[in-house]
Amino acid sequence: MKLNSNYDNLKQNYLFATIEQKVAEFKANNPERELIYMGIGDVTLPLSKSVTEATKAAADEMATAAGFRGYGPYRGYGFLLDAIAGYYAKRGVDLCHEEIFVGDGAKTDTACFSDIFAKENVIAVSDPVYPVYFDSNIMDGREVVLIAATRENGFLPMPSEDLKADVIYLCSPSNPTGAVYTKEQLKVWVDFANKNDALILFDAAYEAYITDPSLPRSIFEVEGSRTCAVEFCSLSKNAGFTGTRASYVIIPKELERDGKNIGKLWLRRQSTKFNGTPYIIQRATEAVFTEEGQREVAEMVGYYQENARMLVDAFTEFGIFFTGGVNSPYIWFEAPKGKTSWEFFDLLLNEVGIVSTPGAGFGVNGEGFLRLTSFNTHENTARAVELLKKVL
Ligand code: PLP
Repeated sequence: MKLNSNYDNLKQNYLFATIEQKVAEFKANNPERELIYMGIGDVTLPLSKSVTEATKAAADEMATAAGFRGYGPYRGYGFLLDAIAGYYAKRGVDLCHEEIFVGDGAKTDTACFSDIFAKENVIAVSDPVYPVYFDSNIMDGREVVLIAATRENGFLPMPSEDLKADVIYLCSPSNPTGAVYTKEQLKVWVDFANKNDALILFDAAYEAYITDPSLPRSIFEVEGSRTCAVEFCSLSKNAGFTGTRASYVIIPKELERDGKNIGKLWLRRQSTKFNGTPYIIQRATEAVFTEEGQREVAEMVGYYQENARMLVDAFTEFGIFFTGGVNSPYIWFEAPKGKTSWEFFDLLLNEVGIVSTPGAGFGVNGEGFLRLTSFNTHENTARAVELLKKVL
């Protein structure tokens, strides 16, 4: 037998696996040293009351003959589709059940969506980028072109006349840079995709961190997007579901490419390869969209935003170039004194015990930058600011 040789074209390790390895080595050599984790984008606050109550109630329901559920509907239960549609309706985006697909995480959804694309498609991703878009297409053997996200373009690349791409991944607010596209900028991408018969895959995993009301939280706030875009969203960073696992994909029902309906193809793929998000988790997800659930989300996101504000203030004081931190849980900053990302990663780890993420791990244009997350306690963030003062 033969294995998928496209895997030979991947970096040897997933970025966060390399970081974990370095941190494990450091801990083994320095068992007494405490670390502050500002690297991997995992949340730290516990699940909210509404979510845990809904989870327990659903578990109790499953323990009764009348309430037991086995395999669920492929696109998700009607109660959750209603809740998601209601969430979008508040922003003036009308969705029907046929346009919503509940998943078990935006990583799974964004990585697996390429199952429905032909191998010949050219894929465009920004550089730096959330590695999943890039790696999943490399695994499938597709050509991936990189669009440079740089300090000069505010880490928000725009289409150029000569860009040849069939599928374009956009992430706003961006992981890793925290940069956010305006509605006008997204309109340029939408017009480009419609004109060139391309498809935009829009990752809105961090939409809950947008505080500026003029910035779009969904690509479907942009005119013309229904004929060229699919949106991915996650419950991980707003409701703390990184270990609970829930997400949704929005595919407008009229969206077609190559003479075929995208939503129908995705449903065909899901019904073959996925047996749904657990009923208990779908009930927990429904609770996130209630009035009380949304109040809790605002509180949770607000807590992390306060940390981000501390970091923004600190980097402003240090006079170090950074982006993000305002409409995003991430601060993306330039390593001082011309150090490389990994050099400064090692310095932060060894000298002050802060775990960051080296920007170079997200792409060539990430070299010289690092990412810090605000997913932490206020106390740890304040301590990190003091420690950063020592080295910056
Ligand atoms: N999309 C982006 C841009 C992310 O940064 C992440 C997680 O860090 C995900 C998707 C994955 O989210 P999930 O936990 O829903 O799989």
